Amino acid sequence: MVDQNLVSDLNKLADAANPVGMLEKMASQFKGKAVFTTSLGIEDQVITDMIFSNNLDIRVVTLDTGRLFEETYKVMNRTLDKYGKAIEVYSPKNDAVEKMVTAKGPLSFYLSVENRKECCGIRKVEPLGRALQGMECWVTGLRVSQSDNRHDLDFFVWDAGFQLVKFNPLLHWSLEDCQKYVKDNNVPYNVLHDRGFVSIGCAPCTRAIQPGEDFRAGRWWWEDNSKKECGLHTHEE
Ligand code: SF4
Repeated sequence: MVDQNLVSDLNKLADAANPVGMLEKMASQFKGKAVFTTSLGIEDQVITDMIFSNNLDIRVVTLDTGRLFEETYKVMNRTLDKYGKAIEVYSPKNDAVEKMVTAKGPLSFYLSVENRKECCGIRKVEPLGRALQGMECWVTGLRVSQSDNRHDLDFFVWDAGFQLVKFNPLLHWSLEDCQKYVKDNNVPYNVLHDRGFVSIGCAPCTRAIQPGEDFRAGRWWWEDNSKKECGLHTHEE
């Protein structure tokens, strides 16, 4: 069992210039208990490349909400073809989706924050809980420059909700760093990024943003900013 005391020691040893080295260390420290959750966005594709190209013992998992863009499925397919490695897919429970859509229709998330959180809970948070079960280290593509409320983020943080160490290897990378890495290493990426989409989630809840707009302006744009979180990353709540 891991505990939160580990986090400060891990942060002291963090090496911002060597994300692959940090991933290697976590793979060996948390043998078989490290998992990376990818949304298939550009920073996540960088991490997938680092894990697969270096044969690291870190599970790569994605949450297929059932409402993703066709372009997202295409980048997943190209990634499977390039690396020949498995991306584990977690889908929502059929009965929960059926019940919600039968009761409220297929677009209930536009009607209220509660409905939207219910949908995210069923399609994302519950499958995430299953994906993280038994894990001790959760790798994510969070970066400080993605959003104002990520500025106090660290390489390693304790996730009290899931009781594990959360590890953000690209913490100080800019979007341009990610774009350069993807280009230099011929990593498949979602073509929606070329059309102004920065953070890419479910199709009905994501849109392109204008230059200068906040990273999350393209997500749940009909809601008050303070309510924008989906329950995956609890420090944003
Ligand atoms: Fe549902 Fe939208 Fe949340 Fe996706 S982002 S799970 S469609 S509310």
